Amino acid sequence: MQISLERYKRQLLLENIGKCGQQKLFNAKVLVCGAGGLGGPALTYLAAAGIGNIGLCDFDVVEPSNLNRQILYNHVDIEKQKAYIAKERLENFNPDVKVKVYPEKLTEKNISDIFKNYDVVIDAVDNFQSRYLINAAAYKSFVPLVCGAVCEFEGILTVIVPKENTSCFQCIYPLKPSSELTSKTFGILGATAGIIGSMQALESIKFILGLHCLKNKLLVFNGIENTYRIKDVLKRKDCPICRQG
Ligand SMILES: [Zn+2]
Repeated sequence: MQISLERYKRQLLLENIGKCGQQKLFNAKVLVCGAGGLGGPALTYLAAAGIGNIGLCDFDVVEPSNLNRQILYNHVDIEKQKAYIAKERLENFNPDVKVKVYPEKLTEKNISDIFKNYDVVIDAVDNFQSRYLINAAAYKSFVPLVCGAVCEFEGILTVIVPKENTSCFQCIYPLKPSSELTSKTFGILGATAGIIGSMQALESIKFILGLHCLKNKLLVFNGIENTYRIKDVLKRKDCPICRQG
């Protein structure tokens, strides 16, 4: 497809993008796991930037309590399946973009077959069990992974690059919290999820363009204090996912 360059005029002006970078974005394949509070802004900004091939994995339906943060949906979408609504919104928003949906739960059986089709995966899910599954599959499939999470007014962000043997999500969180928090049990503000989800899109775009990204680092955002802290993340020698040999 001929890219309508007029649409991307303002980002083509960026020294790190230009026509060559825009073509890289258009050729890229990015999978977003979870089309909720993080996935909505991540998907929207990927589509806005002209990421040509977007995958979207979500098996949930829209609930009224999603609507304070899940910006791809509105009140008429309640009880409808998120994946198909999101695909329609994103393809209407930018017709240059193809969106493939996986309206199914990720499992050990299907995850590698899905991941192998993508250049970058974004973890935008809401529970530790899925995060560990995604982290392990990304490492096994050598697919770069952009992890984001939010809780109350805080958010975290990191980038994992298995081909460069970086630290992984399980190096940061080796153990699941004993009483697992889920998005249904803690408070969350849409704007906080919007910030971290947008940053996940940004890190993915930077990775595709070959720019600096948050490898071996953990960004911690605090919306109350207006602070961003970046910590080094060391590989754990006993990590079952990313240790060598
Ligand atoms: Zn690890």
